Amino acid sequence: MAEKKEKKIKAYKPGRQCPKCGRRLAEHENRMSCGHCGYTEFKTHNKG
Ligand SMILES: [Zn+2]
Repeated sequence: MAEKKEKKIKAYKPGRQCPKCGRRLAEHENRMSCGHCGYTEFKTHNKG
């Protein structure tokens, strides 16, 4: 029997957590957003 298992291992980075519901924020190019409650946090760039 062939067992099909979908395994997608991604380099997990301990990112930020949603302050509203505590889930992991989805990382975007310039922001992070929670797919659960919709919380969005913009990344801050420290450019001196
Ligand atoms: Zn959330």
